[in-house]
Amino acid sequence: MSCYEDNCPIIVDRAEGVYLIDCDGNKYIDGVSSLWANTLGHNVKELNDSIIKQLNKIAHSTLLGNSNTAVVELASNLSKVVPVVDPHFLFASDGASAVEQALKVAYQYWENTGKSRERFLTLSGAYHGDTIGAMSLGDSNFESAIFDPLKFKTLRSPGYSEPRWAELICKTIDENKDDIIAFVLEPLVQAAGGMYISAPNEVKKAVSYAQEKNIPVIADEIATGFGRIGKLFASEVCGINPDIMCLGKGLSAGYLPISITAVSDRFYTAFLGEDLSDKTFYHGHTFGGNALAAAVSSTHLELLLKSGILKELEKKIVVIKKMCEELREIKGVRDIRNCGFMTGVELMSSNKGPAGRLICRACVKKGVFLRPLGNTVVVMPPLVISEDEIRIIFNRLGDILKENSDLW
Ligand SMILES: *Cc1c(COP(=O)(O)O)cnc(C)c1O
Repeated sequence: MSCYEDNCPIIVDRAEGVYLIDCDGNKYIDGVSSLWANTLGHNVKELNDSIIKQLNKIAHSTLLGNSNTAVVELASNLSKVVPVVDPHFLFASDGASAVEQALKVAYQYWENTGKSRERFLTLSGAYHGDTIGAMSLGDSNFESAIFDPLKFKTLRSPGYSEPRWAELICKTIDENKDDIIAFVLEPLVQAAGGMYISAPNEVKKAVSYAQEKNIPVIADEIATGFGRIGKLFASEVCGINPDIMCLGKGLSAGYLPISITAVSDRFYTAFLGEDLSDKTFYHGHTFGGNALAAAVSSTHLELLLKSGILKELEKKIVVIKKMCEELREIKGVRDIRNCGFMTGVELMSSNKGPAGRLICRACVKKGVFLRPLGNTVVVMPPLVISEDEIRIIFNRLGDILKENSDLW
């Protein structure tokens, strides 16, 4: 907090479409979709209305041993589109909680079937959330090394920055296959790790290999899900059917906190047994399956599937890729990594200060809200952004890089 004000925080008061409006009335393009969550813009009438309609019925009732109609409807709609075979859904509120649930389900699955297993298989450069379990799966590249004594150990294999990562993970699987609880990955894009991208067939190769060896695969699509990579899910692009899948962020169009752990029928049935027996999954979050969040998520899914938004993404992605190539030529840019609506502009380091922060701060002052991951500037606008607005974000970032060329 000692430098909070230096970094130009914006205090948002309201929003219209892809524009955030701060308490002084200044407008900013939301270039990071309010942390990778917003899909259809802000203050969308149909989404607002769905919450109000649900609010007039009920805001929240517990899912512990019970349910509500908003959640039943969402689960039923999602079951038609998620790539998990014959899916069952466990609800929570944040992405990290969905990951924790996935870990516990996978671990207890082996206990329930009488074959204990010891370790998760994870990737370098991975990010799965900030709770202790999720941090254990993640790489220590988020200054989380201080918590190392609290984390559990995983088997870690090189991530997407290594082009041969899939081949290497197959080797790790061969050497440890009877010990692996599950293989956890962010299919296609390691997002918070710096926007590292894998070829889809490499993901397919690694996932198929794990599944052939009877190792469950947990796909964390919290960042990639709901259109962000140009299709509804990255698993679709890679042609995989994960055994367990985590959803969050864009699930509710970025409106309300809701997350899901989807598990295939094989995992669900492994927990069936006598009431209160040791097969029971003793886990639940108070606000898991919140009715308002479920209602807006259902409306969001309906809009995404019906409105042609996903189709229109293709043309916009062509514009994004073209803008990336223009940026690549500018001094200070080390690399640009892009997949669909997810772009990381990696800057060279500067001995005059944290380049990522300084560049984003300058962008905010010019009406484009961006936030860096270390030295990588993330550009991840809402899916409904226009082609002109995409050009504005990239051109402004380019201008600011040129104006600050003395950083390098
Ligand atoms: C953001 C993110 C999470 C954590 O979600 P929270 O809602 O912030 O807890 C987990 N996995 C991935 C891939 C993410 O991008």
